[in-house]
Amino acid sequence: MPIDATKPYDDQNIFAKILRGEIPNSTVYEDDHVLAFEDINPQAPYHVLVIPKGAYVSWDDFSANGSDAEIAAFIRAVGHIAREAGLTEPGYRLLANIGMDAHQEVPHLHVHIFAGRPLGPMLVR
Ligand code: 5GP
Repeated sequence: MPIDATKPYDDQNIFAKILRGEIPNSTVYEDDHVLAFEDINPQAPYHVLVIPKGAYVSWDDFSANGSDAEIAAFIRAVGHIAREAGLTEPGYRLLANIGMDAHQEVPHLHVHIFAGRPLGPMLVR
């Protein structure tokens, strides 16, 4: 079910539980502000989720309320993870779903990194 990204942060969401160590994950990168881990239901050979450690519902929330340090760390981490995985030359796709129309399911900001095969058209028609 898509979530309403205008609601307050719910600290019982699945990524909050991952951040607290209550649910296991396959971590690919971590720093003071960022955690990245493999998606549990991969849609491409490479499918990693990058999340800020702070409690932000969506890109909208993060871009309005995140600190400059958090935002810089997040953007740099996404690029670093993709570079370290060797994705720059073959290419990759970033996706962030925000709210109902985009079908955001987890109410904690996440950017998907997809790669490992030709990814096709940008959106399903
Ligand atoms: P959204 O639709 O919100 O952009 O994407 C949510 C993503 O979170 C989905 O790709 C889904 O497979 C992933 N996901 C949901 N629950 C878990 C979980 O417990 N662990 C991991 N690693 N990924 C999850």
